[in-house]
Amino acid sequence: MIADIEQKQAAFAAAAGQAATPDQLKTLRSEYLGKKGFIPQAMKRLRELSPDEKRACGKLINDFKNQVENRLEELTQTLQAAGGKAEGKGKSAFDPTLPGRKETPGALHPVTQIMDEIISIFFSLGFDVEEGPEIESDYYNFEALNIPADHPARDMQDTFYIEDARVLRTHTSPVQIRVMEKQKPPLRIIAPGRVYRSDSDLTHTPMFHQIEGLMVDKDVSFAHLKGIMDIFLHEVFGKKTKIRFRPSFFPFTCPSAEVDIQCVMCSGKGCRVCSQSGWLEILGAGMVDPAVFQHVDYDPDEWTGLAFGLGIERIAMLKYGVNDIRLFFENDLRFLRQF
Ligand SMILES: [Zn+2]
Repeated sequence: MIADIEQKQAAFAAAAGQAATPDQLKTLRSEYLGKKGFIPQAMKRLRELSPDEKRACGKLINDFKNQVENRLEELTQTLQAAGGKAEGKGKSAFDPTLPGRKETPGALHPVTQIMDEIISIFFSLGFDVEEGPEIESDYYNFEALNIPADHPARDMQDTFYIEDARVLRTHTSPVQIRVMEKQKPPLRIIAPGRVYRSDSDLTHTPMFHQIEGLMVDKDVSFAHLKGIMDIFLHEVFGKKTKIRFRPSFFPFTCPSAEVDIQCVMCSGKGCRVCSQSGWLEILGAGMVDPAVFQHVDYDPDEWTGLAFGLGIERIAMLKYGVNDIRLFFENDLRFLRQF
């Protein structure tokens, strides 16, 4: 029996040296360690031996068993390591059967799109773009725009006050003053940017965007204002859009007007959006008040000006039929992807 075992040991060593696939290892394992394999069978046969032979053979078989187990374990690990490498180099490097990964390109926010569109319309009319700070002094936000501290018009805007007579600007109008301080007329500018008011509901958010416009020249008249508003609103809402001016009040313009367009939802028939009036308020405008010119040392006898201001979100809402302004700022991609 000892000769038998030694012969099997040699056979196993040879076979193990040649084993190169998981299947071959499996066959080897069952051939030697499986229920009907050599080692379990040899152990059964021990019973038939004399005590001395049993001791000698038993030790030999046990050693052989350990040897087979260790060798098979070693081979399995070598094979797995090699297999992993082969996979890393071959398969995952390029698998033409995998579905492609879709590119998801970004897009401009609808508010930015409308802002860019409006800027380009006024750019074509000869207006330059100017910017100003969002944290503004009381002087630029109110005082220089003919809104002194005790003026009731301050109540028209729910202001965020910061310490030391500073505010988050409530409109883009302060940019008018900053530009006129730096530049001598004639000038034509628009000032797009963020503004802040303590207000939040379906049509108001604490932060929104405005574009301010200012044109100063000799003999600028209300007719120029009407002409410019006509061109602008027809570009944005279409050539057939009807426009009307209504008298209004702003401290920094005189005369002042609210500009309406015919309701884009019902074409003037009257609906919920326009409160059955057939018209939608779209922006405020007017002729620059001489008191404003005095703050920037422009001679009101020599120069006249027109100014206008509009909310970007308001225009975006009407143009796209969005009924809640807050949707623009929730950053829900399902909403934003529609534009
Ligand atoms: Zn309507």
